[in-house]
This record gives sequence, structure tokens and C-alpha cells, in this order.
Amino acid sequence: MANYPELGPKPRLGYTSSLLDRMAQRRDDAAAIEKLCEHPHAGVHVIGGEFVVLKSLGSSGDICDPLFSPAEAHALGAVRESVFLGAVKDAPRFGFGLDPQAAEALKARDDLKVTDLRSIAVQGLVSADALPPLAEAKALLGWHARHRFCPNCGSPTHPVQAGWRRDCPVCKAQHFPRTDPVVIMLVIAGERCVLGRSQRFAPTMWSCLAGFIEPGETIEEAVRREVLEEAGIICGKVKYFASQPWPFPSSLMIGCHAQALSDEIVIDREELEAARWFTRGELASMLRREHKDGLTTPPPVAIAHHIIRDYVENGSDVIA
Ligand SMILES: [Zn+2]
Repeated sequence: MANYPELGPKPRLGYTSSLLDRMAQRRDDAAAIEKLCEHPHAGVHVIGGEFVVLKSLGSSGDICDPLFSPAEAHALGAVRESVFLGAVKDAPRFGFGLDPQAAEALKARDDLKVTDLRSIAVQGLVSADALPPLAEAKALLGWHARHRFCPNCGSPTHPVQAGWRRDCPVCKAQHFPRTDPVVIMLVIAGERCVLGRSQRFAPTMWSCLAGFIEPGETIEEAVRREVLEEAGIICGKVKYFASQPWPFPSSLMIGCHAQALSDEIVIDREELEAARWFTRGELASMLRREHKDGLTTPPPVAIAHHIIRDYVENGSDVIA
């Protein structure tokens, strides 16, 4: 196995390692939740659809504070839903949902920064510890925004359990926030692996293949089906690597390495613009931003970066 130059300290995977204690046992006590919102250290994350509202700090504006007091948050606009996220030590944390238009209107204010969570993560606009609660708030509030009516009978539903359930008063159905599992995988054959490009990627970026797990499928079956559909490659062994919440709007990325059993790539043009084999050395140069054609991998905030790096560091041992 070839040795590649040291890639430096491992970056943190975005939206993971939350410091929040979710305190799920408190969710059914509405009076206690209300009291927590009056706590002097209560903090609120404010979300409006894809927008996150931050406080600008300083003249550079590149470091922001993601927390508002409940009173400050209420002053930003009408709160459609509030959810209890948990607590950091003794400090309760909530998410408030505004209408997307109301959040967008706040862009005009100099003391605020209103942008999407991807940009916040990639540009490092908040500390890494602030990303998991923002992801939790965005995914949960996004679920509320899309589930105001009962999928069973069509009646309006209402939030209960501090925002962790919606109940239908007519048919009595209870609806829980959903997470959609997605497989994301690096297909490997010895010292080579497959990366693909979708049209929405930045022009130089190549990444792992990915797709939603379908009902009735295992993780391994979904990996093999997606790789076959998107790139025409047959996969054998599949090995789990790590997972990552991906609140766009409510996915869980399940990272894997997969062993290629065939060689010829046949691209599904609906899904991918291009896909090809890369050598492990080429990937190392992409991670170090030294690729001769300027090709890049996704940024460290994304699990694809870590799946690729693990293979660059350990070779095909990742599927041993
Ligand atoms: Zn119903």
C-alpha cells in the first residue's frame, strides 16, 4: 500500500457531536417547558424555512451569534412554532420557526445575518458546537412547516410534546417527526475508486454517490442498488463508516464504503453529469487542494469528505 503525505488533523464532521441534552422526559410537561423558556439563560435558534437568523458580531460580520433571548426572538416576527431542543448544562435551548418570508425580510437589518445553514457551516459563521442544535432546530421546524395537516384524514393538526409530535383532533392520529435515511458511498476497487458529479455541484467538485433508502430495503441493498442505477457498477461487500444528520430538509446520511465487482461505468444522466474512476493518489491530491486540474472533494463539514479521507488514509482496508 502506498503511503501518502500526512493530511493533517482530522476536521470535525458537521452537525455532529451535539452538546445538547435533549431532556426528552420533560417534553410532556407543558408548564415545565414554559418555565424553562423564562430561564435567564434560555436561548433560541430562529429558523424560517431554509433561512437561519443570526446576530452579526463586529464589523467584519463573519462570526455570528446563533442565539437570541426568547424576548429578542419574539421581536423578530410572528412565531409559527416553538420547539424545545434540550439544554446545554443548565441553559435551555429552543427553536422558533418564522415564516420564510418574514425571515428573508430580516436580511435588510445590519445587526442580523440571515442565510442558509449550508453557508453557515461551510463558511464557519458560527462555532462548530452551534451547528448540531441548528440542525436539530431546522429539521424539526421544517417538519412542522410541512405537516400542518393530518396525512390520515386531512384535518389541521396541532403540536404537542414541546414540538416533538403533532396530533390530529379529528381522527386522533399522532404524527412524529421523520428522518429520511440516505446512503452515501465510496465504491472501491483496490487503489481506485469512483466519484461522480451532479449538475448542481461547484464546477471542480467530485463526490461520493448517494441516494435515498427505499421502503423495505437494508442499507447494504440501497448502496448496491444506487451504485448500479447511477453508475452501472455491481457492488459486493458494503461496510458502514459513519452517519451524519443532514437537515436539508431532514435526512440522515449513512456513510459506507463498497467493494466494486465490475469495472465499466454506465452513467444515469438523470442523476449524474459525470462519474469516473480516480486513483487513491489523485484523491490525496484533491484533499490537499493540490490536484493538477484543480479538482476538489466536498468540504470537511460533509460526510463525503470523511468517507474519501478514510480511504486515502487506509486504502482498501476500509472494506476488509
Ligand atoms: Zn386525522
